[in-house]
Amino acid sequence: MNVDLHCHSTASDGALAPACVVARAHEHGVRLLALTDHDTLDGLTEARDAAAALGMGWVSGVEMSCTWGGATIHVLGYGFALDAPALNDALEQLHAGRWLRAEEIDRRLAAKGMPGALEGARAIQAALGDSRNAPARPHFADYLIQQGHVPDRPTAFRKWLGAGKIGDVKQHWPSLEATIATLRSANAWVSLAHPMHYDFNRSKRRRLVTEYLQAGGHAIEVVNGHQADEQTGTLAILAREFGLLASAGSDFHGPGNWGEIGSYRSMPDDLPLLWERFRHDRACIPAGI
Ligand code: MN
Ligand code: MN
Ligand code: MN
Repeated sequence: MNVDLHCHSTASDGALAPACVVARAHEHGVRLLALTDHDTLDGLTEARDAAAALGMGWVSGVEMSCTWGGATIHVLGYGFALDAPALNDALEQLHAGRWLRAEEIDRRLAAKGMPGALEGARAIQAALGDSRNAPARPHFADYLIQQGHVPDRPTAFRKWLGAGKIGDVKQHWPSLEATIATLRSANAWVSLAHPMHYDFNRSKRRRLVTEYLQAGGHAIEVVNGHQADEQTGTLAILAREFGLLASAGSDFHGPGNWGEIGSYRSMPDDLPLLWERFRHDRACIPAGI
């Protein structure tokens, strides 16, 4: 595909540095890219400069975590100015919350005879790239492997870090409404990430989309990587019914079996595309897409 509006770098939980993500996207034929790291703008300057050097279209992006209906929801924002004050303030608060969470995971693992986890996870994260962010559970998992506490990541999550285990420390995220308001105040375009990934039944998903639209959302991510075609069909129906724009992206996190950058299932051709609105936007660098 020549547009990819969803991918990650070492600025959050991706495996490649921002400039490497951009170079890889370009190699795979992407001509308009948004790097959408979790709850940070840290990779964007590097990504923007790398895209400019390649003559590639680029738009600012972020994937923000928030809560709705007792679940953690991801919202994508695009086309904002990198120094937008309300957005930067909100991300700074999330950033502090992530560090508190990492410290709590560290305390809990230490209490179970696995000391030094925060420092160890931080070292593993630093070896992957330069990040101010608190280490996340995959980094803790790799530390537990390195120390010989567990043989592999699945075991680390099953025993210590997965849902309901002692290392599963909940973070307090802002509401969906507050997150959309933050993005809108930064003049961002807003898309609801992978609406089929939440463990909702049909009526709860519809209620999510209804409230998302009321709160000011513009688009839904109709295609996320290699999701099943029937999911694309369900989301296309929602987009049509609610009059929402459609976005798409690979959700690339790194080379391997998670799917390649620029690669995702095809988009139904009748949907109005979010990225076609970017052309007239000053925060975007459109190329010939
Ligand atoms: Mn991720
Ligand atoms: Mn996500
Ligand atoms: Mn993502």
